[in-house]
Amino acid sequence: MTTPSIELKPSSTPRSDAEREAILASPGFGRHFTDHMVTIKWTEGRGWHDAELTPYAQLSIDPANMTLHYAQEIFEGLKAYRRPDGSVATFRPDANARRFQLSARRLAMPELPVETFIAACDALVQQDKAWVPEHGGESSLYLRPFMFANEVGLGVRPANEYLFIVIASPAGAYFPGGVKPVSVWLSENYVRAVPGGMGFAKTGGNYAASLLAQAEAAAEGCDQVVWLDALEHRTVEEMGGMNLYFVYGDRIVTPELTGSLLAGITRDSLLTLARDLGYGSEEGTITTDQWKRDTENGTLTEVFACGTAAAITPVGTVKSTGGEWTQSNGEPGKVTMELRRALLAIQTGTAEDRHGWMREL
Ligand code: PMP
Repeated sequence: MTTPSIELKPSSTPRSDAEREAILASPGFGRHFTDHMVTIKWTEGRGWHDAELTPYAQLSIDPANMTLHYAQEIFEGLKAYRRPDGSVATFRPDANARRFQLSARRLAMPELPVETFIAACDALVQQDKAWVPEHGGESSLYLRPFMFANEVGLGVRPANEYLFIVIASPAGAYFPGGVKPVSVWLSENYVRAVPGGMGFAKTGGNYAASLLAQAEAAAEGCDQVVWLDALEHRTVEEMGGMNLYFVYGDRIVTPELTGSLLAGITRDSLLTLARDLGYGSEEGTITTDQWKRDTENGTLTEVFACGTAAAITPVGTVKSTGGEWTQSNGEPGKVTMELRRALLAIQTGTAEDRHGWMREL
């Protein structure tokens, strides 16, 4: 199936430099959107068509749109960074494109070709380049590609029409006041995903399922939920929107991909980056008992979470029905911070990109 080229129909009324700069001065996260979006349609029998870059605008949705009823929806998240020379690059868009295909397959949706996904992201970043924050300060332009069923009707079956869209939103530094460890709540009452379910897919339903558990974590005084396996509530899977790493001295271990957690692109990058820095890195199984015991006996020296939003976040206090303990005296750990600096240096273009992760635009 051929992939369509993107027709450029830019806005005749983009925001002024002054308006944009006012937003970029304190963008927050996901509150402001750039001047454009890319849309591509898919129709049964016709494939991908009508790829366009247009002014950012509202959609008109029929009340019987199938997504509103049966949630056939998937999304991605990746960032464009400003480099010291003023150029802009995205981090591993090909990996997001492949994960988008895995999500699509699980949700019985058509798979967007990898090159079309990348071309859509490229077109939007090119057009709205001025919205990529300045180099330094850990700000970036967050890209949100997503796709949903766009057929009208109430029959439960895969839709015969879909809409793929990419929008972009400037994102401020995750830790404007300096990196602070997060506190986490081990969720035993609620699970995120089950074997054979759709935990590995990036689909809205997984996030809807997380909200009540996140509220429980907040009520327990914690910042984030840690998800455990659905059957025994013993094996650690991931955090609300990040994967986890356990630092055993000079070895870092992350929960293996069982099918019920998201295969984070940051997680995958760190398996490689840690080795570059002389650490061992591996996938394995970590239970909550082990987490507590190894912290107490001093072998588990640091724990951190990783994902596109915050790059790397240290974990401080861990709370569960079985007790409470604290990692690294509640301070950001040494290995955590070394990996964080190394990853951000590649992303923001101050370190060599040895693995070809950055896509320059
Ligand atoms: N797990 C979940 C549930 C997430 O939402 C995310 C964010 N996409 C991650 C892990 C981290 O993935 P990535 O490194 O690709 O951002």
